[in-house]
Amino acid sequence: MKYLRLLLILVLLGSCSKNSYQISKKTYNKETKKLGKSLREIKQDTINNRITNVIKSQNFNLRKPNLIVIHHTAQDSCKQTYKTFALKRTQVSSHYVICNDGTITQMLNDLLRGWHAGGGSWGKNTDINSASIGIELDNDGSEPFSYAQINSLVFLLQKLTEKYKIPSQNIVGHADIAPGRKTDPSALFPWKALADSGLGIWYDEENLDTVVLPLNFNTTFALKYIGYNTTNLKNAIYSFKLRFNSEEVSHELTEKDKKILFLLMNEI
Ligand SMILES: [Zn+2]
Repeated sequence: MKYLRLLLILVLLGSCSKNSYQISKKTYNKETKKLGKSLREIKQDTINNRITNVIKSQNFNLRKPNLIVIHHTAQDSCKQTYKTFALKRTQVSSHYVICNDGTITQMLNDLLRGWHAGGGSWGKNTDINSASIGIELDNDGSEPFSYAQINSLVFLLQKLTEKYKIPSQNIVGHADIAPGRKTDPSALFPWKALADSGLGIWYDEENLDTVVLPLNFNTTFALKYIGYNTTNLKNAIYSFKLRFNSEEVSHELTEKDKKILFLLMNEI
């Protein structure tokens, strides 16, 4: 009897999440239809009635993403993540979710503006959601990333960077674009392995022992040059170390960090 009740609860929970996916699908279709309709309009009065003339050109296509942001979900399962992104009240979403077993699920068309980045910047780009594709990795932030998951991520990154001609330095972590606010993906994320597959930047490790820093080497400029927002320098340093020197994460730059920074500038 006890088991029967448990089974009933599980069945109900299953149908409940399926139901929320159905609602999400319906809203997705309705909203994309509305967006399509809005693309057909060119309003004449957008800037104080100064636009008085409309002549429609026939030469265009949709704008393309130019940045990829990698996250970890900090949730317990892929199912929980799907539900979070399908529910309207959460106001968050991502284009792709990759589970621990390597399963890839797409939740938004690449050309739609997802709500995964929040406030942040990379270089001069201050509207990350408009420019980027969000990829969420099912990971609680304290466990290692599985081989199957990274394998799927490499496949997806290769496909997307090729399709949209996204430069290597524009494959970033959430922590990179939001220093002080975000720390995902965690220090366990294999950035070097990714760079070995030609995805994202890494420094020339062979030169680390021999490189000599210029006397006037400006580390803040170097961080900025790579893309970090240095308004709060200590937070920028923390995000930089989380990615490029994850065994010694702190808010201070060591001699090794400075050399890494210098070598990274050659990769851009
Ligand atoms: Zn994130």
